Amino acid sequence: WSHATTIEGPIEGMEYPMMTFTPNSAVREDQQWVIAHEFGHEWFPMIVGSNERLYPWMDEGFNTFIDLGNAAKYFQGTPYGDSIEVHPLHLYSDHAKPGDEQPLITNPTQVRDLFWVGYQKPALMMQMLRYEVLGKDRFDAAFREYINAWAFKHPTPADFFRMMRDESGMDLDWFWRGWIYSTARLDQSVDSVATRADGGSNVYLGNRGTMVMPAEVSLTFVDGTHTIVKLPVEMWNLGSQFVYRVPEKKKVTRAEADPRRALPDIDRANNAWPRGSSGN
Ligand SMILES: [Zn+2]
Repeated sequence: WSHATTIEGPIEGMEYPMMTFTPNSAVREDQQWVIAHEFGHEWFPMIVGSNERLYPWMDEGFNTFIDLGNAAKYFQGTPYGDSIEVHPLHLYSDHAKPGDEQPLITNPTQVRDLFWVGYQKPALMMQMLRYEVLGKDRFDAAFREYINAWAFKHPTPADFFRMMRDESGMDLDWFWRGWIYSTARLDQSVDSVATRADGGSNVYLGNRGTMVMPAEVSLTFVDGTHTIVKLPVEMWNLGSQFVYRVPEKKKVTRAEADPRRALPDIDRANNAWPRGSSGN
């Protein structure tokens, strides 16, 4: 666009090509959010023209994902700025209610909780893809290419999936299945730890939910040292149990899945072994 204008208007935030309306907010953080969000629509869906009537996750969701990173940067060093990016993860337990939650692909006219399905959960999905699956560099390069390739065109979900797969070099069908086409829920566990004949340990990991994600496990050894192990999602290819043979030839005294609490794990009581040793 040659320019874009935002206007304090009589309605809550609303976007149009080259012009947005925003309310007058009493709180600076809220004001920044709504201006950034409505302006964000100049990219999604005004330039990258996905179908907002069918796929709100592709414009409201992508936009919200970028707004979160933007707000974190803009208010960096403040309590708000330093916590805003985990907001969608914290909303998870209140909104991802089993039996009531609807998949992102649901036609929005039938969506009961559009705040979650159209905005916050897709933002969480994009954060998971960026921080936990692909890593920032690989994600950013792929997502930028999606934006470049589909600017002034009309991408469908399949176009987005193809672009993210081809640019990242990673099969992501499992990810879209869990995050977009279903309401799969994640429950990783450390089931037990056993000592091997060579003095090392085997860690028995479980995937008790319906969603798969890569696993990060923190290990504490008998000598008090720690290590963090990152296991790729392919670990679950052969089923919901996985034995990690710890290469170190010393006993593991404690193991915990998702120690950063970065994933929407629905049952943290089974994340640490021995049970009850989690940092709760
Ligand atoms: Zn919006």
